[in-house]
Amino acid sequence: MAEFTMELNDEQKEVRDWLHGFAADVIRPAAAEWDEREETPWPVIQEAAKVGIYSLDFYAQQYFDPTGLGIPMAMEELFWGDAGIALSIVGTGLAAVGVLANGTEEQIGTWIPQMYGDAGDVKVAAFCSSEPDAGSDVASMRTRAVYDEAKDEWVLNGTKTWATNGGIANVHVVVAVVDPELGSKGHASFIIPPNTPGLSQGQKFKKHGIRASHTAEVVLEDARVPGSCLLGGKEKLDERLARARERAKAGGERVKNAAMATFEASRPAVGAMAVGTARAAYEVALDYARTREQFGRPIIDNQGVAFQLADMRTSIDAARLLVWRASWMAVNGKPFTAAEGSMSKLFASETAKKVTAEAIQILGGNGYTREYPVERMHRDAAIYTIFEGTSEIQRLVIARTLAGMPIR
Ligand SMILES: Cc1cc2nc3c(=O)[nH]c(=O)nc-3n(C[C@H](O)[C@H](O)[C@H](O)COP(=O)(O)OP(=O)(O)OC[C@H]3O[C@@H](n4cnc5c(N)ncnc54)[C@H](O)[C@@H]3O)c2cc1C
Repeated sequence: MAEFTMELNDEQKEVRDWLHGFAADVIRPAAAEWDEREETPWPVIQEAAKVGIYSLDFYAQQYFDPTGLGIPMAMEELFWGDAGIALSIVGTGLAAVGVLANGTEEQIGTWIPQMYGDAGDVKVAAFCSSEPDAGSDVASMRTRAVYDEAKDEWVLNGTKTWATNGGIANVHVVVAVVDPELGSKGHASFIIPPNTPGLSQGQKFKKHGIRASHTAEVVLEDARVPGSCLLGGKEKLDERLARARERAKAGGERVKNAAMATFEASRPAVGAMAVGTARAAYEVALDYARTREQFGRPIIDNQGVAFQLADMRTSIDAARLLVWRASWMAVNGKPFTAAEGSMSKLFASETAKKVTAEAIQILGGNGYTREYPVERMHRDAAIYTIFEGTSEIQRLVIARTLAGMPIR
């Protein structure tokens, strides 16, 4: 087990500084433009691919950092640069993790490289779980996957929504119902290969924030994929379904709402994104408060402003510590008995919303304009309390543990 320490090691510091340089020199200067354009920042993703940030290797290296701090540190720095662009860069990684977690070695080797493409021809991937009537309540999912034994193909029908990179992805990972009797236990994940007939993009959403990240519906109409596209393979699925049916027959545990079963260990990564946005806004506010003069002195000389900055900084550090704790627990296989992953995501995302709003206040009229970045950061921050489980769902999960109920 890696020893707990509050300090990053030399290698981590080097990676952090390198990422910070990319975030400061490449991402941040492009942020306002891509926010206005509301388009995927392909040239920035390409730059990230050139230097090795947009790649499975990089993601895997951080993912397998034995201290657990690789991913949160990377997320914080990239999202410090800009949340919309950073989500365009890491969105593929979120889909790739779905394959890494459930796929066979062959599936990992075949599909993950196609998710990223290469520096000369970058591609993106999408993870599609949410549906119009199945957001927090994942168990209400309706997209169906039916096995056509004669052809060894799966046929998918349904509408996914809110998919980051949905429709523009080279590879889509789609969660679908294979046995409606089993609730969320009857779900399975499928790879939808490039150019599969029957997969199309529905509406692209015009959003409040993270506008450089593409979010759209994905429509599946008799989309046929080879049997080999079922993640984990048919044998494993059949075994899993048989076990679930046995338990259901024995009147065993009720099939639970899958929103609560969302992988507790992935939540700190979203918390780290929120810490990045909060820190970015705080730094702009601090700098402004030191230089802006009113009544003959910098506004930070007013205790009202200085105390606000002190609270902002304290909340950000507290959020980071919760994120680091949960990340360390995940990598060391510690059970999340108090829903520590949810705690980190809840606190960090609420902090980002609060701190970015306070930053606008400290910048006064300037904070309210697009001449300064805090207005964008505030719009961006609103996503953290919504995706990957809303704040209410995080509270629900934490509350379940307090009541002595299992997380899953
Ligand atoms: C920009 C963006 C990107 C996204 N990217 C992806 C993606 O790549 N892939 C993907 O699959 N999904 C994605 N999502 C979907 C996201 O995860 C869902 O929006 C989220 O899970 C909430 O679902 P919903 O929007 O249907 O809200 P609902 O579930 O309808 O919730 C509405 C409100 O009711 C509250 N609520 C619901 N149930 C309860 C309860 N039991 N107790 C208390 N309050 C409750 C919620 O907290 C919320 O405030 C994305 C969403 C956005 C906005």
